[in-house]
Amino acid sequence: MTVRSILIYGDPRLQAPNSPVDEFGSELEEFVDDLFETGWRAPGLGLAAPQVGVNLQVATIDVSVGKDPAARRVLVNPTIVWSDGSATVEEGCLSFPGLYTSLVRPRRLRVRAQDAAGEWWEETVSDLLAQAVCHELDHLAGTLIVDHLRGLKRQVFLRRVARARKLGVWPRSS
Ligand code: ZN
Repeated sequence: MTVRSILIYGDPRLQAPNSPVDEFGSELEEFVDDLFETGWRAPGLGLAAPQVGVNLQVATIDVSVGKDPAARRVLVNPTIVWSDGSATVEEGCLSFPGLYTSLVRPRRLRVRAQDAAGEWWEETVSDLLAQAVCHELDHLAGTLIVDHLRGLKRQVFLRRVARARKLGVWPRSS
């Protein structure tokens, strides 16, 4: 497993289109392992392929951050079948180190995806796991947390981004 470097907001690969995966097997499995390893190391609850510069429909989620193998989810070519309810949640992103914002997410949803071997799976998830699924699927659509913010809230968030960059708190995007 290889820990990959995580792209920081401003890198165009974070907002580029992500192609569907049509080849499954050992290469994809190794990449998925890298995503988990990179996410655990960060640490974060999930990681999407474009965050390591790979523009494919692949993401991993592990809300236990490496503690519970049963918490691991591999999402290849994922879609949300339905979603239900709404909750205001605090959310961060490994591509915006140290920044958090509140936004609205569904409380419950059903996700359908393939695993690294190409097997389809479906699951109804709620609360933190539902939030994580939404967050990673957003990445696969090129949508970042800042894209959910409007008006003054967006301006304040972007000012915090600028300050983090200026202070050198954020690593430079390669
Ligand atoms: Zn993120």
